[in-house]
Amino acid sequence: MQTKLQELRNRLIEVDNLNSATAVLGWDQSTYMPPGGVAARARQMATLQQLAHEKFIDPAVGRLLDDLLPYEEGLPYDSDDASLIRLTRRQYERAVRVPAAFVAEWTGHSAASYQVWADARPRNDFKAVEPYLVKTVDYCHKYADYFPGYEHVADPLIDLADYGMKASTLKTLFAELRRQLVPIVQAITGQPPADDSCLRQRFPEAGQWSFGLEVIKRLGYDMNRGRQDKTHHPFTTKFSIGDVRITTRVNENHLGEALFATIHEAGHAFYELGVNMAFEGTPLASGTSAGVHESQSRLWENRIGRSRGFWEFFYPRLQAAFPDQLGSVALETFYRAINKVERSLIRVEADEVTYNLHVMIRFGLELDLLEGNLAVHDLPEAWRAGYQADLGVTPPDDRDGVMQDVHWYGGGVGGAFQGYTLGNILGAQFYGAALKAHPGIPEQIRQGEFATLHGWLKDNIYHPGSKFTTDELLERVTGEPLRIEPYIRYLRDKYGELYTL
Ligand code: ZN
Repeated sequence: MQTKLQELRNRLIEVDNLNSATAVLGWDQSTYMPPGGVAARARQMATLQQLAHEKFIDPAVGRLLDDLLPYEEGLPYDSDDASLIRLTRRQYERAVRVPAAFVAEWTGHSAASYQVWADARPRNDFKAVEPYLVKTVDYCHKYADYFPGYEHVADPLIDLADYGMKASTLKTLFAELRRQLVPIVQAITGQPPADDSCLRQRFPEAGQWSFGLEVIKRLGYDMNRGRQDKTHHPFTTKFSIGDVRITTRVNENHLGEALFATIHEAGHAFYELGVNMAFEGTPLASGTSAGVHESQSRLWENRIGRSRGFWEFFYPRLQAAFPDQLGSVALETFYRAINKVERSLIRVEADEVTYNLHVMIRFGLELDLLEGNLAVHDLPEAWRAGYQADLGVTPPDDRDGVMQDVHWYGGGVGGAFQGYTLGNILGAQFYGAALKAHPGIPEQIRQGEFATLHGWLKDNIYHPGSKFTTDELLERVTGEPLRIEPYIRYLRDKYGELYTL
């Protein structure tokens, strides 16, 4: 059996090599590649993804999985070997339904679409991306059609990002969350707004860059196993467990944008860097779902990075980095500024209270696009209507409206956004478990010490990689199913102190 397992592992590592090479090309395209490279790059990525897919759906892999079934059944569910075979089988059964030529076409289209978006967004040119997005919706439909019998056309796409989740489950969950969130948003936005003018000064890029790096290194980002570069829309990418890179963008007229995006992406990187090294090159060696991934990034960004204790430690350092801008601004003023709740236009900059409303608008539009109830041509108008209805603001242009997020233009509609809200909910449950195990964590954060929290996250969340599904991981770590109460309680406690609720 060990020979067969080794043969499976060798084949999986070859697939991973091709996937990682594609990721390097994608990272380069989003950071340094000149626009002239796009046609060739789309072709190169398409070829690599086609090869990776062909290798993975090779009938020999299916035979190995069949041969290994009795071995797997004799092992404990959570053993490394059983988990590898189980996860590989799940991914294999999904992949064999999809032709390699389709994967190649979709990959090539996605790379081309990304470039058009990156070029068209600054020009506010939705017309330029429209035909690409029409094709993207078409590809997503075709993908779903490889999985006949789905309940909702978005389900196979959601399943790719958040295994086991369905549109129907998410609709119910989001409706309940909305019911509880909207009164909080209304109560807060009915009160005088917090003064965030201290953030809206001129902060030169070099200073923002080095302060952001100082923060994430202190949090535990190892520059020997990662790096940070500039991009259009921040993301994290992994080439191996020893090379997990983050990207950010800097707004010299707003301090919060790069800083919190940097902490957010570092949170994603911690997850990938903390996976059991023994899983390297196999499907186990990555975060288990979009939801759990966002639970980590948003935990560091918000629960930690926007907490008072965190800034008790970092604010004197921030003041030293920007003495002219912040030297005479009190910590409390800064704390209130970074937690200002407002009806705003941009998801990645939104406060914790309104954030999920941004996600729900996108989720609803994705379902409408896939159901055929909304044409891509009418999407900008539907976007404006959604923002007016849910947040009471209308984007002045498409750049800060329907074109603000990379996701749909990077080739995927359906399953692109639910992970953020799932992450907020999961993050509250995970952090509750961490505090139960180590009640001293908040005091350590005040001292700028993150090792205990990091260690707990590593042991409980990062190390298993993709061994467990989201639900299994949650049950193992917290003993509970997914529930929104801890998250709502956190928001009420934190914002009840800042505003009257
Ligand atoms: Zn994220």
